[in-house]
Order: sequence, then structure tokens, then C-alpha cells
Amino acid sequence: MTVISIPPDPEFLRPGMVALVGAGPGDPDLLTVAAIKALQMADVVVHDALVSPAILELIPAGCQVIAAGKRGGNPASACQSDICDSLVALARQNKRVVRLKGGDPFVFGRGGEEACRLADEGILFRIVPGLTAGIAGPAYAGIPITHRLVNANVAFITGQESAENSGLPEGEEDRDGSRVNWELIARTFPVLILYMAMKNLAFVSQRLMAGGRSADTPVALIQWATTPQQRTLVTSLGNLVQDVAASDLKPPVIIVIGDVVRYRESLAWFPDLTV
Ligand code: SAH
Repeated sequence: MTVISIPPDPEFLRPGMVALVGAGPGDPDLLTVAAIKALQMADVVVHDALVSPAILELIPAGCQVIAAGKRGGNPASACQSDICDSLVALARQNKRVVRLKGGDPFVFGRGGEEACRLADEGILFRIVPGLTAGIAGPAYAGIPITHRLVNANVAFITGQESAENSGLPEGEEDRDGSRVNWELIARTFPVLILYMAMKNLAFVSQRLMAGGRSADTPVALIQWATTPQQRTLVTSLGNLVQDVAASDLKPPVIIVIGDVVRYRESLAWFPDLTV
């Protein structure tokens, strides 16, 4: 298997050190060489819920595996400070620790918080970037997130910041509550990539249309991108809520909004399951 074809590199992850490793979105072929090196050396892997089973299978036998997934609203899942505490404790036991996270550890993954805690505690660490779902997912759905004829920029946005979180009356939240100003985004960025947005589709689509985006704007929702379970639903901003309600799409889903979605018609190359 791939893991054993890269020569071991003991210096890459020394005892007492933590590697914050991005596992990519799911396809094990999208692991970096650095991720494989770290996994080869690990005494213990602490992984989150988004790391795909195919990648977990690559963890060498004999390595301790701790599932520390934080899935929204699941009381059984570990809280962030517990995860940080256990990384610190494992490093202090002089273990080689891999903290394995879906996608890229510094893209909506709270890897920044974990790294800050390690830095505060004086624990040696390294960051291994991974392919983020917002880049690799659209690629596997046949959607170029930039295209010279369409857009000169692209925005990566969390859909979790919303009116629901702000506690402010509808219409007020962009200015004061949510850190995402959807109307401004609607006017500024031709292509939007939304993470964690499935709970807020009605709010987000309504705000983008209020900001001037046409109801015809194409939208692609890619579930379990890059895995054998990948499914892609193409709809429009105007039909987004009803089409998703009529499907059984559930997170993890990456959402692409903008005219680049139209390229999927000719560029879909990966065998999606039908929605
Ligand atoms: N650090 C991760 C993002 C974590 S936030 C990264 O860089 O990819 C969690 C969100 O990421 C999910 O709600 C979903 O929007 C997206 N996501 C992660 N993996 C995904 C996958 N395989 N398919 C679709 N969406 C995914």
C-alpha cells in the first residue's frame, strides 16, 4: 500500500511532537506525501469524524487510534478543549502524535485553535496542509472554481454564521450579528464555496438573492466529495431549498454557487451516485 512505499523519516515527527495533518476530503489518493510520512511515524492518531474510512484503514497496525470527532449537536462527541487537552497529554507522554483532520487543518477545521494551544504549552508541532473540500470537491464534480471566462476571484465561506446565531431581528444580522455579510458577498464574489451550510440554505439563498444574485444562478451541492459515496445535486439559487428538501442530501456537503457550475455539464468525470 502507498503508506509503506515512502521511506520512514523519524525526524519528521519526533517523540513528544504533534503533527496537525490534513487528510484531504476522503479519497486516500489525495493524501500528501507529508501526511503519509506523519502517519507512518505516529504512535497515536487522534482523528475527527470527517476522516474517511479508506484513510483510517491506512493507519499502520499497532498505532493507537482515538476518534475525537466533533459532529454538530452530538453530545457524545468530544468538545474542543477536551481534544486540545488530550493532544497535550499525549505529547507529554512523549508520544509521536498525529492529529488527523478532514480536508485542510487550517480551513474551517479549528486547527488554528489546536495549534495555538500547543504553542502556548511549548509543545513542538508541525502543520501538514491537506486538500480542502472546497477545492478538491468541486474538482471531483467537474467544476473549475475559477474559469478565466467567469471569475477572477472566489470566496470560501462558512454557512454556519447566520441569523440563527446572531439573535438579532431578520435584516439586522449582517451588520451586527453574523460575521458574514451576505449582501456584500453577493455583489462582490462571482463564485462562492460554502462549507457547513446545509442548515442555513433558506437564509443564505434568500440573502444572496436580496443582494442581487439572480434566482437562476446555478448551485451545485456535492456530498461526500471524492469518495465512492460522492453525489452531486445541481439546482439554482431560487430552487435550492425545495430541491434539497426533496433529496436526502445530508452533511458533509460542499456547495458551489456561480456560473462555473455550468461547466459540470461537459466536465463531470467522476462516477457520482445519483441524487
Ligand atoms: N477542514 C475541512 C473543513 C471542515 S468544516 C476542509 O478543509 O475541507 C466541515 C465542512 O467541510 C462540511 O460541513 C462540509 O461542508 C465540508 N466537507 C468536508 N469534507 C467534505 C467532503 N468529503 N464532501 C463534502 N463536503 C465536505
